[in-house]
Amino acid sequence: MKHHLIPAASVVEVLPDAVVPDMAEMVKCKIAELEAKGSDDAFFICDVGDIIKKVTRWRELLPNVAPFYAVKCNTDETVVKTLVDLGLGFDCASKGEIAQVLKHGVSPSRIIYANPCKQKSFLKYAARHGVDLMTFDNEAELIKIKELYPRARLVLRILPTLQVQVQCELGNKFGCHPDNVLKLLSKAQELDLDVMGISFHVGSGVEEAKAFSHAVQQARDAWDLAVDLGFDMTLLDVGGGFPGQESAPVTFEEIAAVLNAALDYHFPKGCGAEIIAEPGRYFVASAFTLTCNIIAKRTVARDVAHQDTLVVGSPDCYHKQALTKNDEPSYMYYLNDGLYGSFNSLMYDHAKVEPRVLNDSPVSFTSSVWGPTCDGLDCIMQDCRLPEMEVGQWMYFLDMGAYTMCAGSTFNGMPRPDCFYVCEAELWSELSPAEVCEKKRCSQIPPHLHTAQAAGEMQGAVGPISCCYPVDEELILL
Ligand code: PLP
Repeated sequence: MKHHLIPAASVVEVLPDAVVPDMAEMVKCKIAELEAKGSDDAFFICDVGDIIKKVTRWRELLPNVAPFYAVKCNTDETVVKTLVDLGLGFDCASKGEIAQVLKHGVSPSRIIYANPCKQKSFLKYAARHGVDLMTFDNEAELIKIKELYPRARLVLRILPTLQVQVQCELGNKFGCHPDNVLKLLSKAQELDLDVMGISFHVGSGVEEAKAFSHAVQQARDAWDLAVDLGFDMTLLDVGGGFPGQESAPVTFEEIAAVLNAALDYHFPKGCGAEIIAEPGRYFVASAFTLTCNIIAKRTVARDVAHQDTLVVGSPDCYHKQALTKNDEPSYMYYLNDGLYGSFNSLMYDHAKVEPRVLNDSPVSFTSSVWGPTCDGLDCIMQDCRLPEMEVGQWMYFLDMGAYTMCAGSTFNGMPRPDCFYVCEAELWSELSPAEVCEKKRCSQIPPHLHTAQAAGEMQGAVGPISCCYPVDEELILL
């Protein structure tokens, strides 16, 4: 199935400046629509406007750094198409990601193959499609590139050595240590390869902005070594690691300030360096909200649940001690997405999530939240406070766009959630000028769009929103 963005001109109304669509309201509307259809499936809402705002913010704060979106972070077609339309470049890690981006008509020159350890057949594919910009950090890779793509433009990925807190370490696997840079560059020279850039990645979800200033300085040192060897250096790639959500320990603004200062000092304007970055989570983390249905519930005795010897909330507790009339119970909630699905980010990305409910009761209980599979590992939250919820009600989770759906499985036959897309009218028109919208408009309004209209009406003060949805190709009359 091919996905397209469908501008919903028929429901577009420009929102008053001060009004921002409220995600809780949108979640409620979507739930109402799904329940009316008898569906209790988990679903994502993607706020495309949030992605557009992030691009604008990037361009305001890092005007001299061209973003190449790290596709691995979220491969959703609407995300990729939005970023294509906004003129971004792309960081691809594999043949599949390159193919996905090329399919949108992106020029190969807007792609960096930023995986320092490439499969041979993928490298051949890159060569066939003219994706010639790529990273390396080891000798074997140079030999492989010499054999399969000797004209490639090579970017040496160095290892940032400053020890800082990160959500996801990358330096344990990638990056050439400063002590080995000269040797590796000499090997490239011996093979007559075209090294023209330096890159680094400070670690995904880096928690200290100074990681960037230190790494830029290291990049300058490596750059100078390369120049001394006679390479014509023209590209600096400052990698990813930019925060994507408000709860991050460091803000994008702080990082931008530190990075700009380091670039001004080490790679000042006019020095001949084109500067790019590979942000992933920055663009998508906050754009996605995941809503899950409570498919089952278990009541356990709270005092027992807190004993050290037992897993919190374990059904064991339930069997070992019955609740007395005066006990405050704790609850185990089972959702229809979990660790094997979108919440794989808890393991792979070391993410933290916070469940939200649409129940505004001030009374809360000790609770644990679980995924739907038959595995005891499938626990989303061991211990949190929630109002009492019932089977059939819903919980939602903000900031679920980064490293979530891209690595989710269908273990136990559990389906992956659908995704619905919304966008404020003003922002949507930035992406798609009116005349383009008119031409591409679908003659049949997809059923989702009626919901969008309903959502607008139900939101009252919020007003209608414009929406774009991926739909089956047959629905589209171009
Ligand atoms: N570039 C490379 C080579 C990566 O491996 C990653 C993430 O693993 C990224 C960019 C994106 O990083 P982030 O999502 O932290 O911006």
